[in-house]
Amino acid sequence: MTTFADPVPGGRRGEVRRAATLGAALAARGVRGIVLAYVDTAGVGRVKTIPTARLEAAVAWGVGMSPVFDTFLADDSIVTTDVLGSPDGDLRLYPDLDRLVALAGQPGWAWAPVDRITQEGAPHPGCSRTFLRRTVTGAAERHGLAFKAAVEIEWAVGLASAPAGEFVPAARGPAYGAIRQIELSDYTADLLAAFAAQDVDVDQLHPEYAAGQFEVSVGALDPVAAADRSVLVRQTIRAVAQRHGLRVSFAPAVSAESVGNGGHLHLSCWRGGANLHAGGEGRYGMTADAEAFAAGVLAHLPALTAVTAPSPASHLRLRPSRWAGVFTGWGRETREAALRMITGMAGRQERDANMEVKPVDLAANPYLALGCVIAAGLDGITASRTLPEEITGDPARYGPEEAAALGVRRLPQSLPLAVAEFRADRVLRDALGPVLADAVSAVRLGEAAAVADLDDAQVAAAYRWKY
Ligand code: GLU
Ligand code: MG
Repeated sequence: MTTFADPVPGGRRGEVRRAATLGAALAARGVRGIVLAYVDTAGVGRVKTIPTARLEAAVAWGVGMSPVFDTFLADDSIVTTDVLGSPDGDLRLYPDLDRLVALAGQPGWAWAPVDRITQEGAPHPGCSRTFLRRTVTGAAERHGLAFKAAVEIEWAVGLASAPAGEFVPAARGPAYGAIRQIELSDYTADLLAAFAAQDVDVDQLHPEYAAGQFEVSVGALDPVAAADRSVLVRQTIRAVAQRHGLRVSFAPAVSAESVGNGGHLHLSCWRGGANLHAGGEGRYGMTADAEAFAAGVLAHLPALTAVTAPSPASHLRLRPSRWAGVFTGWGRETREAALRMITGMAGRQERDANMEVKPVDLAANPYLALGCVIAAGLDGITASRTLPEEITGDPARYGPEEAAALGVRRLPQSLPLAVAEFRADRVLRDALGPVLADAVSAVRLGEAAAVADLDDAQVAAAYRWKY
């Protein structure tokens, strides 16, 4: 166990002394409190906050929080599994000092993601961040693999003054439009400044397709850091918006009819410093391992949907011909396939080549989503799975026979169907372990039951401001 005398929080010697130094530096900059952040099974961001002076103690002994949030639903009601959902017990939240950052959009506050540890000092089996770290470490040990990952963030910008619960777009210009960029010029400039102050390297920020929608893409990092960053980026987008009289939604479907908010995952496998998606003998320069990894992701995609598209609102987004990737195929730069292979510009392929997983939204817990996608890909390597033929164009045009011949399947069209696929998937369940796997099933079925009597518009409204 960690103590001030024996400072080994999360196994890292010297962290308590480091916390004292970092806390003092933050306090000197006027930071009064620290947000300790994690994401629950339903994809909702949950926090505790501490005064800056408590950082040292938090790093030594953690901060208490009930494990019950593992089976919270987005509406804050609670379901149960064999071991979760009870009012009993406590966990300790341990901030990761490597990710501690002063929040540019929330003066007076800093932020850090946490690992959740039991009072006995063991990793909590329901901790999604620990699951992702364990999956990445296992890939290094068993396959010599490392990963680079990034989560694309799409969001809808509305007026904070809109009538309660309603979404009124804060910009009216066309998709990717110059008008829309000008309409939200001050907000987006402040956002870029906040990202820069927080060391988030932004590749692009632009107006997207749906009403009031924007997108930001950021540089790739190791998977745990990429998941952390996706949480920080959303915290920042929301906080800066609030200072401009705006209200943002990352919900998969802000309205029942329109194109939704995606949270596409970009992922590449590396070995010995080499990108396995470039310079190989396979299609578009993929190595055999990159092809097998992609084949594994494709094979598990129907089950993965329970993790990557976890909300009833996700199924309002997962519709054909909306670039949400609802068919289990792959193609080079094919925006309707679930897996879009990105080769990169000639001369930059070794650096940039990656695969984009599209049926992922921002209701997904990013640690669970990345961990499960990686576990699926590793199964492709272990089982030497073969990547099928490439598809081009919109798979929505295929009749059932053509789709079957190409091995192209529509993803499950409801949460209960996705859960049935997930429950039958030993690879994903084993990777998650029984506690997390049961939490995923229980929370998804709980969400489905909660909206059983609602129509599409009511479902969109129910989740509009939850993510
Ligand atoms: N908004 C689309 C989605 O729901 C994605 C658009 C894009 O490819 O960036 O996933
Ligand atoms: Mg986009």
